[in-house]
Amino acid sequence: MSHAVARLRDERLARSLKPFHARGSRTLRCLRCRVAASHCLCAWQPQVTAQAGVCLLMHDIEPLKPSNTGWLIADVVPDTRAFGWSRTAVDAGLLALLADPQWQPYLVFPGEYAGAERVVEAVAVEPGRRPLFVLLDATWTEARKMFRKSPYLDRLPVLSLSPEALSRYRLRRSKRGDHLCTAEVAALCLEQAGDHRASAALDAWLDVFSDHYLAAKTHRVPDLQDAAHLRLAGFRAQC
Ligand SMILES: [Zn+2]
Repeated sequence: MSHAVARLRDERLARSLKPFHARGSRTLRCLRCRVAASHCLCAWQPQVTAQAGVCLLMHDIEPLKPSNTGWLIADVVPDTRAFGWSRTAVDAGLLALLADPQWQPYLVFPGEYAGAERVVEAVAVEPGRRPLFVLLDATWTEARKMFRKSPYLDRLPVLSLSPEALSRYRLRRSKRGDHLCTAEVAALCLEQAGDHRASAALDAWLDVFSDHYLAAKTHRVPDLQDAAHLRLAGFRAQC
């Protein structure tokens, strides 16, 4: 099964003039989960539904990085779309998605970078519409540039995750440090939208992905009975 980020990776690779070499690129990776084949986690793929959708706007090589966590969102949230970002052009598919009345888009970004009139701290979806979380998937420096230089995003409300929501989330995940990765931001958004099961599945998927990814690097065998795997098992696809 291919998803939006996998398709974006393939398009990006097809456009490359020279081959992309990820760090550790001599490793034989599973094409589906991107982890070393010896540590493949595809058998653990969760399956959930979600009312909300996610629209990833991805900086140039982001879809090519094996550690990119936007990919994990596309694994879990059925309605995930992904577009490459460029300063000079905008994908017509992205504009069509943002204009589609079934979706109510929110640009997820810290409120201090936007005019106060655009900033909201909670999701309030109109009847008959579904929330669409637009996430800028990039390094922080790149994301700020994308935020400033994408005029088609200027009309969207900016969903600024409140410090309380962020600290509750950090506490729940025993997370140190300020920076949340894209998948964590998406999990928080899903929770805000009432998609609690999808939010928890995404957190569990991220934990097991990170464990397998690091285990592969350090030649450790993942413990399939640990808390993270047990949590994820509750969301696994029935086969
Ligand atoms: Zn795999």
